[in-house]
Amino acid sequence: FFRPPVTMAGVKLDSKLDFLAPSAQCIKPVQTKRKPVRLDSETTSIIDEVALKEAVKVSLNDCLACSGCVTTAESILVQEQSIEEVYKQLTENKEMEKRGERPRKLVASVAPQACASIAAYFRCPLMEAFQKLTWVLQSRLGVSVVMDTVWAQNVSLLEISREFVDRYRRHQQDGAASPMPMLASACPGWICYAEKTHPGLIPLISTAKSPQAVLGTVVKRYFAQQWGLAMDAIYHLSIYACYDKKLEATRDDFKVDGVRETDCVIAASEVVDLLKREELEWAAIPLAPVGDHVATYLSEEMAQWDETSEFESSGGYLEFVMRYAAKELFGHTIQGPLSYKQRRNPNWQEVSLEVDGQKVLVFAIAYGFQQIQNVTRQISGKTKAKCAYHFVEVMACPSGCLNGGAQIKASAQQTEETNKDLLKRVE
Ligand code: SF4
Ligand code: SF4
Repeated sequence: FFRPPVTMAGVKLDSKLDFLAPSAQCIKPVQTKRKPVRLDSETTSIIDEVALKEAVKVSLNDCLACSGCVTTAESILVQEQSIEEVYKQLTENKEMEKRGERPRKLVASVAPQACASIAAYFRCPLMEAFQKLTWVLQSRLGVSVVMDTVWAQNVSLLEISREFVDRYRRHQQDGAASPMPMLASACPGWICYAEKTHPGLIPLISTAKSPQAVLGTVVKRYFAQQWGLAMDAIYHLSIYACYDKKLEATRDDFKVDGVRETDCVIAASEVVDLLKREELEWAAIPLAPVGDHVATYLSEEMAQWDETSEFESSGGYLEFVMRYAAKELFGHTIQGPLSYKQRRNPNWQEVSLEVDGQKVLVFAIAYGFQQIQNVTRQISGKTKAKCAYHFVEVMACPSGCLNGGAQIKASAQQTEETNKDLLKRVE
């Protein structure tokens, strides 16, 4: 029942006796001992010996739902949020029609990271992936409206930036009574980790909703009102690059008057299963016309998402908040790309803004649990180095959302291509 880890963040454990072999993918600490090994009479090498006397058992309490793998309990949630559930809704809709009732209206939102994964897998431009996916959703699943999540991401970015400026000003006034850094809130894997292992950090986490949650609110409130429907007469299907978005969708925080804002989350990898089930050949799928603001909503930025820099591919929180805060707090417009300084590896980087020779803003990205632990140790005062950050974009997956556990794996393609190659093309 254990499949060995692959290069992308993605191991699936699917037995009640979930067992995890020591792996760089899991943040559960594994003790290592440095040991010299003689290779021949002249050469010795140092190896890290894993001091593991027994199998590492992962219970739900240990597991942080970081998307690095999926354990049994998560599998149940994953099953509840699957293509199967969408088909069940379609059957239920037919039954409702027979009973003379109005069927639930399906609205789908598509994340650019999921589209990038589909585009890389089928070797086509991102917009072609979006248009073909739109055709499948409308023609085969009866979805009434398809939209991208980029505009919801913009709402989320603006919200988090305003909150940052407010917190920064309060910190300048009150000092330690209004602590910093502010930590990004869009990654459900990171939120789950913080809640389980660092509850003391929760007040530092932004209160801004993630793009999926923003979209869910708009679909269930605004569209319901526009269409004269009750909120539960709409079924919101979200297509994301992340299994943890399924967990996010089921949280009580994302219900409006007891109605879920997002009813079902389908991962990019499950789109391949959907095509197989519908017996569709990618090349033969027509391009749906998009952007008519009736059956489809397309953000301008979605059409140019291919040009997004690697640091914006997880939502661009650091980039946006830095530029917004520089302008709002110091009247400074940052021209050109930000200058990143790498710390221990590419998953931990810093950016700062100097005004009159003083560092006034120091931001960081921390991708993957190793780097999250490095940063959270600093914030909690468990290291000699004091945390100098004002904002940290925290994401659970190494390399961020483009390497999400639910992206399509190279193995699904049955070619010689490795997951690393595929990730490069997604980027
Ligand atoms: S989900 Fe993450 S924390 Fe949980 S067992 Fe898998 S890799 Fe470890
Ligand atoms: S980094 Fe992105 S893909 Fe990974 S768990 Fe967080 S939101 Fe999901």
